[in-house]
Amino acid sequence: MRKSDVVVVGAGIAGLTSAAILSKKGLSVTLIESHSQAGGCAGTFKRKNYIFDVGATQVAGLEKGGIHSRIFDFLDIPTPEATILDPACIVDLNDGGKPIPIWYEKSKWIAEQEMQFPGSQRFWKLCNLIHQSNWTFANNNPVLPISNFWDFSQLFKALVPSNLVTGFLLKSTIFDLLRICGLSKNERLIKFLNLQLKLYSQEDVFNTAALYGSTVLQMCQEPHGLWHLKKSMQSLSESLESSLIKTGVNLIFGQKVNSINFDEVKMCWKVSANSKKESFIGTIDQKKGWDDNWIDCFLNLRIIPQLLILQSKILEKETINKVLEKIKSELLNHKPINTLVHGDLWSGNAGTDKSGKGVIFDPASWWADNEVDIAMTKLFGGFSKEFYEEYHRIFPIKKGFEKRIIIYNFYHILNHANMFGGSYLKQVKDYVKAILNM
Ligand SMILES: Cc1cc2nc3c(=O)[nH]c(=O)nc-3n(C[C@H](O)[C@H](O)[C@H](O)COP(=O)(O)OP(=O)(O)OC[C@H]3O[C@@H](n4cnc5c(N)ncnc54)[C@H](O)[C@@H]3O)c2cc1C
Repeated sequence: MRKSDVVVVGAGIAGLTSAAILSKKGLSVTLIESHSQAGGCAGTFKRKNYIFDVGATQVAGLEKGGIHSRIFDFLDIPTPEATILDPACIVDLNDGGKPIPIWYEKSKWIAEQEMQFPGSQRFWKLCNLIHQSNWTFANNNPVLPISNFWDFSQLFKALVPSNLVTGFLLKSTIFDLLRICGLSKNERLIKFLNLQLKLYSQEDVFNTAALYGSTVLQMCQEPHGLWHLKKSMQSLSESLESSLIKTGVNLIFGQKVNSINFDEVKMCWKVSANSKKESFIGTIDQKKGWDDNWIDCFLNLRIIPQLLILQSKILEKETINKVLEKIKSELLNHKPINTLVHGDLWSGNAGTDKSGKGVIFDPASWWADNEVDIAMTKLFGGFSKEFYEEYHRIFPIKKGFEKRIIIYNFYHILNHANMFGGSYLKQVKDYVKAILNM
């Protein structure tokens, strides 16, 4: 992994934003994500022509002066296209009453509140006051949590007089505000608030802090509002990614960070990551790894792990050692063509689509001798004569090919014996005999 000023772990919206801002500020940044794409809980997946959001569906802060909008301005990239949600959502309390649309327009929402929850205006006004005070504070860019004197000075500068008043509510909950307003027994309002708050704080009125709850309860109204991104949630990550690419962030996907340690000798932090997934062959894990020596690679990553699963059930230790030695000697003078192979190339993983084009499925793909694929095609009946003629026209048959077919397919026979047992156990013995007799 290359040296960077900063390593950001995770390409969710938080990681993407941090990496983009730090890189724009001139630091060299590496961003490591375990998944194959960015977005995290605000990510998507695609099926046919449709894109599905996996988590978040609505975005706040895209309005002018909103947090996303400010970040996009700073990064000098266009804000993704979005439409304001009006109503933001419609809540059905399932109590026979009319569903409650949460309107964007403030006056319309106040009228709706009065109609749905008569006598609740004091509560909403109090929430609004807290919300205004919070927002002025947040717009002054405080740093939280505080970890040094500079953070403290930023926080201090951001404070406004109204924060002194709302500061008294630091330990209060939304339920405390309801109590102050004489609404602690209004079950319909509490049910409605619980549904809203559980979306934002995953807690109810009794456990949501008054300062936080008051703000999230007004996110849907002007001048803020919730937005729906035109091209799915992914467009938010894609925009941020475009900034990362522009400023040269080292973006690494498919690698999970597993340790972060301080190297006392080199006096720097060391981050190590590796690929999250092993591939699989049938239902059995196919070990990942790399070895420059093909014989070691084939034995250590393929044959030995299968023999370990078999646990000497049908083979003596001595026989196993003899087979391993024989495979080594047979492959010794062979010069494999290093190829990205399909790995599980039997007729069930090959076919044609509706238009007649060839389709191949690669559940066990790896870098290996190209002959391992051809060996596999011969394991269960084989492919057509034309297939082999055409293949060997490009890759002529090499000396010892027939023997290597047996050696390479020994892996698949062991795998089948481990998965299904039965007659495959006998086939393992037959293959052992064939290899030892080479
Ligand atoms: C079902 C659901 C619906 C939601 N709806 C909304 C909504 O409508 N509006 C809204 O604003 N918010 C919504 N949220 C919340 C919002 O999606 C999240 O708060 C936000 O996406 C979190 O972003 P993040 O970057 O902090 O974390 P995450 O999105 O969790 O990103 C963390 C990333 O780090 C990666 N990672 C973790 N560990 C490692 C590691 N060791 N090595 C490498 N990579 C690693 C993960 O793969 C992931 O990509 C919703 C969340 C969920 C789950």
